[in-house]
Amino acid sequence: MNAPLLELVKNRVVLFDGAMGTELMARGLPQGASPDAWTIERPDLVREVHEAYFAAGSDVVSTNSFGASPIKLAGHGLEGRAHELNRAAARLARDAAPAGRYVAGSMGPTGKFMKPQGDYTEEEFSAAFAEQARGLADGGVDVLLIETQYDLREALAALRGARSATALPVFVTMTFNAFPRGYFTLMGDTVARAAAELERNGAQAVGANCTLNSEQMVGCVRAIRQATTLPVIAQANAGQPIIGEDGRVGYSQGLDDYVRFVPEIVRAGAGFVGGCCGTNPSYIRAMARVIQKERS
Ligand SMILES: [Zn+2]
Repeated sequence: MNAPLLELVKNRVVLFDGAMGTELMARGLPQGASPDAWTIERPDLVREVHEAYFAAGSDVVSTNSFGASPIKLAGHGLEGRAHELNRAAARLARDAAPAGRYVAGSMGPTGKFMKPQGDYTEEEFSAAFAEQARGLADGGVDVLLIETQYDLREALAALRGARSATALPVFVTMTFNAFPRGYFTLMGDTVARAAAELERNGAQAVGANCTLNSEQMVGCVRAIRQATTLPVIAQANAGQPIIGEDGRVGYSQGLDDYVRFVPEIVRAGAGFVGGCCGTNPSYIRAMARVIQKERS
């Protein structure tokens, strides 16, 4: 039995994995296809990504279930398979995990909005995330990771849904944009308000992922650290996406530049670190080395 992640992070920096989506695209996931369906259609390739991250030094990998809430799956006609896909994603990561490593159940945004901007009620959002959480819990994840949330209302609905469905610890990361006045979600939520509300509603770790590069993440972590007593999670993008002439997506922040800011992210207060879009096992391997140095 692994020590709980929340105990581990009291003693050392805990390393998550990097991107899944961009890694699956690199392995041939077609534009517009459901990455979540690949858990069942191409389990060999999903497993290969998990194994590469564990080999690179990840303590925790996130399941291939980012878009597997029933509301998001409806865009691919897969809404009736939410429980099956989430449970399968969790089992696949669990099977790939060596002893002493961890699996976080990834829960991304629905891509829809709540009333009045959209058609959904808070209860419908919560119920969808609850169903996803049950599937991930049944497949054996250690924690739930509600991530890349750009609307605090949706993040809170997800948090309530997850907590109603399982007894697992729930971590939440929001995605912020950097402005001269600070960091804001797409919907205008501040870091301070997001961190406080998530903590009040039972999140056991909070943080930021996606959008920001590793340099911008330093200030964001500092702001989160000031707003909460919970462990802080930071998973920066490798800069901005760049579409090449061949239509392939690359990212603007190279490995050395990305990793240069990791010690500052840790000193700013992040206990859980990892990568987001554009990062791959090479980034995680380099981060593992840097974190090791910070420890000693
Ligand atoms: Zn990302």
